[in-house]
Amino acid sequence: MTDTSAAPVPAPTDGDHEYVLVLNSGSSSIKFQVLDPRADGTEPPYISGLVEKIGEDRGHIRITTPDQAMEDNRPILGHSVGLERAFGMMSLLGVGPSDLNVVAVGHRVVHGGETFSGPVLIDRDVIRRIKDLVPLAPLHNPANIDGIENARSLLPDVPHVAVFDTGFFHTLPPAAARYAIDRKVAEDNHIRRYGFHGTSHEYVSQQVAGLLDRDPADVRQITLHLGNGASAAAIDGGRAVDTSMGLTPLAGLVMGTRSGDIDPGIIFHLHRSSGMSSEDIDTMLNRDSGLKGLSGVNDFRQLQELIDAGDEDAILAYDIYVHQLRRYLGSYMLILGGVDAITFTAGVGENHAGIRRDTLARLEGFGVEIDDARNEDPEAEGPRMISTDDSRVKVFVVPTNEELAIARYALDLADGGEG
Ligand code: ADP
Repeated sequence: MTDTSAAPVPAPTDGDHEYVLVLNSGSSSIKFQVLDPRADGTEPPYISGLVEKIGEDRGHIRITTPDQAMEDNRPILGHSVGLERAFGMMSLLGVGPSDLNVVAVGHRVVHGGETFSGPVLIDRDVIRRIKDLVPLAPLHNPANIDGIENARSLLPDVPHVAVFDTGFFHTLPPAAARYAIDRKVAEDNHIRRYGFHGTSHEYVSQQVAGLLDRDPADVRQITLHLGNGASAAAIDGGRAVDTSMGLTPLAGLVMGTRSGDIDPGIIFHLHRSSGMSSEDIDTMLNRDSGLKGLSGVNDFRQLQELIDAGDEDAILAYDIYVHQLRRYLGSYMLILGGVDAITFTAGVGENHAGIRRDTLARLEGFGVEIDDARNEDPEAEGPRMISTDDSRVKVFVVPTNEELAIARYALDLADGGEG
C-alpha cells in the first residue's frame, strides 16, 4: 500500500458537514465518491474511490482526498473485500465512514424496468424487485445489487437509496416508448424503450432551465450525453418525450464500442451467413463496434490523433458519428415542434469543440448559430452558452454530475422526501 500524502488531512469529524456516499458498482469495478449533497458541483468531491481489477492477479484500489492519495495493488478476491478494504484505507487517512457524518448512501442502479419511476429508499422488497429485473440488464443489475448488499452490511445504520438510470424516461409517451412488434410478445417480455443516462439528462436539463432563467415547464430542449456511452434526449417542459437508447443501452448514437442503431436484420443475416452465435453477435455489437469497430480505437482523444494523422478509417468513423447525431437532432427538433436549447455534456460533449461545431453546422436556417470563439475557448469551463447572442436556439455546454444528482436524491429521501 502506498500513501502519497502531502500533508495530513484535517478530518471533519465535527459533525457539521453532512456527506453522502455515492456508489457505482460495475461487474469488475466499483467507483464511489463521498460528497456534500448541498454543493453546487464546482468543487471536486471530498473523496473519490476506485476499486478495479477485481478477481485479477493484481488489483487496484485508489482513494483520493483533496490532500492525499493512497493506493493498494494487492489482489482483490471479490466486490465485498474490495469495498471493505477501500473503507479501511479511508479510515487510515482519517476519513473513514465512521469519521465523517455520512447521512445516506446513494446507489446508481442501471435498470429500473417498468417498476421504478424514480429514486427509492432501499429495503428487502426493493432489492427483490431489482433482482427481478436482472433479465433486462444481465451485466449491470447483478453488480448493482452486489454493491447495495455489501454497502448495507458495512453501513447498516444509514438509509440507502437506489437511483435508476432509466427513471427519468419512465414517463415517455407510449408512441415513443413502444416498439412496432407483436404486442403480446412485447408485453410478455417487457419489451419497450426504457432509455438510460436518465440522471445525467435530467440534471443537465435542469441546469439549462436555470441558465435560460426560465420556468422548466416552458422549455423544449435536446440534451446530448456524449461519453463512452452516448445518448440523446428530447425534453419538453422538464419531461422526457424521447430518447435514443432503448430496451438496452446498445441503441441510438454511435458510441466508443457500441454500434448504436443498426438494421435488426443484420443480426439474422450474420447468424445465417457467417454462423456467428447470438453471444458472438452480442459481443461484436457491444464491445467491438462503434468507433472501435470503425477505426480501431474507442477513445475519442485517440480517434482525434488518428484523424490529425490523416487516417481515413478514423475520419469516416468521425463522419458516421456526426451523421448519426444529426439524424437524432433533426428528428427531435421535429418531435418537439421547435427547440429552445441544445446542450452537450459528458467527456466528448464537454471537451470536443469540433464535434459541437460539426453537429450543428449549417443549421442557421433552423435558428442555431454557434459562436466559434465561445465554442473553442480553451479556458472555458463550467456551464456556458456557446451560441451567438442572436441565436434563436441557445446552445450550451453543461458538465454532467451524476454523482451529485444521486447524492441530492439520496439526501432528499433520507430526509423523508418523495424523491
Ligand atoms: P463515461 O461514459 O465512461 O463516463 P466520459 O463521460 O468520461 O465517459 O467520456 C469519455 C470520452 O470522452 C472518451 O472517448 C474520451 O476520449 C472523451 N474525452 C475526454 N476528454 C476529452 C478531450 N479533452 N477531448 C476529446 N475527447 C475527450
